[in-house]
Amino acid sequence: MIVVLKKGTPVDEINRISQELKHVWRVTVEKSVGEHTIVLGIIGDTSTIDTLQVQELSQWIQQVLRVQQSFKRVSREFRYGEASEIVVPTPNGRVYFGEHHPIVVVAGPCSVENEEMIVETAKRVKVAGAKFLRGGAYKPRTSPYAFQGHGESALELLATAREVTGLGIITEVMDTADLAAVARVADIIQVGARNMHNFSLLKKVGAQDKPVLLKRGMSATIDEWLMAAEYIMASGNSNVILCERGIRTFDAKYARNTLDLSVIPVLRSLTHLPIMIDPSHGTGKSEYVAPMAMAAIAAGADALMIEVHPNPARALSDGPQSLTPERFDRLTQEMSLIGKVVGRWSQPALVTSV
Ligand code: PEP
Ligand code: MN
Repeated sequence: MIVVLKKGTPVDEINRISQELKHVWRVTVEKSVGEHTIVLGIIGDTSTIDTLQVQELSQWIQQVLRVQQSFKRVSREFRYGEASEIVVPTPNGRVYFGEHHPIVVVAGPCSVENEEMIVETAKRVKVAGAKFLRGGAYKPRTSPYAFQGHGESALELLATAREVTGLGIITEVMDTADLAAVARVADIIQVGARNMHNFSLLKKVGAQDKPVLLKRGMSATIDEWLMAAEYIMASGNSNVILCERGIRTFDAKYARNTLDLSVIPVLRSLTHLPIMIDPSHGTGKSEYVAPMAMAAIAAGADALMIEVHPNPARALSDGPQSLTPERFDRLTQEMSLIGKVVGRWSQPALVTSV
């Protein structure tokens, strides 16, 4: 249930209404301040609450509505239709994720391999317009014999790349035991596709302050994905970005996954959270990355994640889907054309320097 307050409702009155709701109906009340409205979201057993009785609590109440979706905090209804904006401070300044902001580009290698490659890649993607450097320290690999990531030492290399370039860092946490170390370096913590259903990890990332990038499980339905986001929000962290990275379908002969771009309009209607698209894992082949990146922008994505490696042929993970820095330079120029058409591009492609 949500209680929509009129614009200009005095703070004292907001607090009084919240207290009354908590006291009378024993529910949790969460305030969200949007551009046009103030919404009090009510969590708990609302089945016995009479909406008319709530309406009578104050002249400042514009409307009382029941949330129909089973996911509450992530649902668009819970924010009375307004998109949320996620603000991430980075050394280079604040970066905004959301439907009313320019598209945010995240780029970098699949894994952090050594200092030179991560710093060089960071410099290159920054010049091309990326706002975040991605790179895995802990890698979820199908084979236990494949490169597993350099772990904590790779986190230090990410911190170096952050210091040199000022880019924000996105890196994955696989295990709750590593969360504190990852959170010290990451500006956004990634929960990977394989861990989307790891509820204890979701609760832990929800109980800390860094924003969370939640990738869609490779066979997760949209409802399951949104419920995973609900776990994070229910634990106290409302800064969640959803990332589509391709799902398993019947045909994986040509592309590694099926990049489900239809989630963009679907999520837009269901949730207020920002939407990122990862065409690298989504296709698994570098030659398919650019067309899908541009399609994602045309379809309304809020952010993109692209794997870039200085020498993809020698990458320790995901080389076949990684772009060279040169190809990434060209891609950002190509993306800027579509981005400008949809009014969502502000990065000057290839005009700034490190
Ligand atoms: C990654 O981002 O490198 C990664 C492992 O992604 P996913 O969880 O989508 O497979
Ligand atoms: Mn990868």
